Amino acid sequence: MMTNSALFPSPSWPQAAIKGEKNTYPVHRIFCVGRNYVEHAKEMGVEVDREAAFYFLKSALSLMPSGSTIAYPPGTSNYHYEMELVLAIGAPAFRVNSADALNYVFGYATGLDMTRRDLQLDARSKGRPWDLGKDFEQSAVIGEITRNDEFGPVGSQRISLTVDGLTRQDAHLSDLVWSVPEIIADLSRYYHLQPGDLIFTGTPAGVGAVETGNVLVGEIDGLSPVSMTVGRPE
Ligand code: MN
Repeated sequence: MMTNSALFPSPSWPQAAIKGEKNTYPVHRIFCVGRNYVEHAKEMGVEVDREAAFYFLKSALSLMPSGSTIAYPPGTSNYHYEMELVLAIGAPAFRVNSADALNYVFGYATGLDMTRRDLQLDARSKGRPWDLGKDFEQSAVIGEITRNDEFGPVGSQRISLTVDGLTRQDAHLSDLVWSVPEIIADLSRYYHLQPGDLIFTGTPAGVGAVETGNVLVGEIDGLSPVSMTVGRPE
C-alpha cells in the first residue's frame, strides 16, 4: 500500500521553557497587542485607541529562547527592542468574559518583541500590513514561563529593560491600557484560543535602536528575566 510522506521534515513547534520544570510549553501562535501603553503610543506619534485593541501576529517559528545571540536582521537599519509581558494560554478559550478570563492563563513570561522599525513605520504610513516590520525570523524572544499561581495577579509590577546596563524602559504593569483579562476576552471573540498561544501585551515607552554587540536584559518583578545579544549581520 502506498503511504504519503512529507517531502522534507516538517518543522516542529518551538518550545518555551517553564520555570523549575523539565516539561516545556509548545508554542502554537504568537499574538501581539499594539499600542497598549499611553506613553509608548505618544513616542510613536499616535494615540491609544480606547475603543478597541488591535493586534498583529508573529510566526511561532520566530520564537527564540532567552540568552540567545541573534544576528542583526536583514532589510533594516533601525532594529528596535520592545520589552513586554507575555501571557501563555493554558485552556481553550472562545468567547469568554473578562471576568472569567484569568482561568485560561497558564502563566506569564518576559519577552522582547524585536522590530524592524523602519519597515514598520514605512508600512504604517502607507496603510500596509506590518509583517515585514514585525513578523521576521528570530523576532520573538522569551524568558521562562512562570505558572499563574506562582506569579499571582498582574498588578503594579515593575517592567524594565537595560541595554548594556543602562535603563531604557521603566514602567509598571498597571500602566497597561488593555488589561490581561480584557485582552483574552477580546481576542477570544476572533480566535479559538488554545494552549500553546502566547500573547505579547505591548511595550512601555523608551523603545530604541540597538546595534551589533549590544546586550539587552528585560525584567518584570516576579518573573525570570529575558536577555539577548545582538550579533553581526549575516
Ligand atoms: Mn510590541
